[in-house]
Amino acid sequence: MIIPKEPRLTSQEESELEEITGEFDIHLQKIEGEHQTVYAMVGDERHELLINRLEGLEYIARVDTIQQPYKLMAKDSELANHTVRVNGTEIGTGFTIIAGQCTIDPKNPNFFLETAEAVKEAGGDILRGGVWKPRTSPHSYQGDVKALDILMEAKARTGLPVDTEVMDAEHVSLALDAGVDMFQVGARNALNYGLLKEIGRQINGRSTCVLLKRSMHMGKIEEFILAAEYIAAQGNPNIILCPRGTTPTMDGYRNHPDESITVLLKERTWAPVIVDPCHSVGKAIYVPFAAMAAASYGADGIIIETHVDPIHGIGDDPKQAVSPEVLARIIRDTKAIHEMQLGHTRHLAHNA
Ligand code: PEP
Ligand code: MN
Repeated sequence: MIIPKEPRLTSQEESELEEITGEFDIHLQKIEGEHQTVYAMVGDERHELLINRLEGLEYIARVDTIQQPYKLMAKDSELANHTVRVNGTEIGTGFTIIAGQCTIDPKNPNFFLETAEAVKEAGGDILRGGVWKPRTSPHSYQGDVKALDILMEAKARTGLPVDTEVMDAEHVSLALDAGVDMFQVGARNALNYGLLKEIGRQINGRSTCVLLKRSMHMGKIEEFILAAEYIAAQGNPNIILCPRGTTPTMDGYRNHPDESITVLLKERTWAPVIVDPCHSVGKAIYVPFAAMAAASYGADGIIIETHVDPIHGIGDDPKQAVSPEVLARIIRDTKAIHEMQLGHTRHLAHNA
């Protein structure tokens, strides 16, 4: 929709508009309101160049596009029936639990191996373990490739698919070769378009899945979905969206909790949503509540930091990892809430 600055355009301005939109195969539909004339665009109005040209005209106030800028990730795209799978497990049909340590400590491999068994015992579906870590300070522990062997040892012992964060092209190829099932793109890299394209390129033709976190620096929801579009555009749409809290922080949590964005993501895209309550609230004692909120907003699962001995963990684990006992309770309760949420959704659809 093209909205002029003045209530009416001159016929010369109108012809110029028609000429420009015609170049993009768009037909202009004039809508004469009592106080203002506006112009609807019939056709694919997503061309960035067209929008920029129109917005550059001095007599145009703004251009509102109804169609979304993303094509592959949109709810009505040709990928809408795509089922995301992690090592054969379908995401989006039940309530998926990803759990494990924030960071694998290569000096204490037994912690991770015990945590992995505990995740399996508690009912987890996918095991997380940070091999390489994006840290705010360059003086903090940065990760160690030795941890990749520990992650793969845990996969072999438990049979659970594994997830780890990748931060550059080398991590991607090392993790692919090792057999990592799910690549996590962290909040700090979710706007790193070069990395998103590289991941998409390397996983094309493979069964690997990507868990894309929402950057704390993202603005509108479109920015998040478009980041996923970068990966999908390379050919493998095995993508899960992961809200994890935004900045600025409010009310004293580590980040601003954003579980509720799940509803909007599900309205706009076909992608499954798995929420990270740990990085959102940032403290183990709040995690069960944020996890239950995620389930009630319709998430397809949660990713939880868990450690058999959180106080002796590294990375985020001493602050925000829950014990395996708490994890088991979270799993029990979020699965129950997930069923209730489905009941409400069915009821609302039936009465719509
Ligand atoms: C993590 O999952 O440990 C992590 C670093 O998360 P985020 O990228 O959301 O900060
Ligand atoms: Mn962490």
